Amino acid sequence: MSEQYWSPRDFHFTSEQILWILPHLKELKVGLYPPEPSSGYTENPINKKQPTSHAPYETACQIAAEIEVRLKRTGLAGELLYAQVCAEFLELSYEAKQALYYISGWKRKRISFVDWKRKRRSRLVTQCSKCKEKTETHKVRDFRLCKKCWQKLPDPMKAQYPVW
Ligand SMILES: [Zn+2]
Repeated sequence: MSEQYWSPRDFHFTSEQILWILPHLKELKVGLYPPEPSSGYTENPINKKQPTSHAPYETACQIAAEIEVRLKRTGLAGELLYAQVCAEFLELSYEAKQALYYISGWKRKRISFVDWKRKRRSRLVTQCSKCKEKTETHKVRDFRLCKKCWQKLPDPMKAQYPVW
């Protein structure tokens, strides 16, 4: 993972790139873009204050600002994502992954995080936990149910999980 490198010009907010740059967010905010692996040993980025570094400085700040705005829109999920990536979790939690997919992409999403999650959930075509039919399902407690199986649920359950 540490061998990957993207220059500011190649940074397009893919999920892979965001995972890579998140641990550097604090440096990015003050204009320090991660140095290229080959030049990273000899140069101390803090002392890099030549006039030529002006453009990368702005780019770093812009990338940091954009990531922060997007992260904020995911609330707690984004905080989890940031914490888990910085702590080098081998696998991200479900919420953290949702935040990652939401903040990824060249353009900032207009849809709110909550609406985006709802849309994504409802779009999911997978196997129904009960009848095993592969169809559109909704998450109900720990299950994913098709419409037919959801309708067979007792009314209090349906009221608690009004997914269809
Ligand atoms: Zn079913």
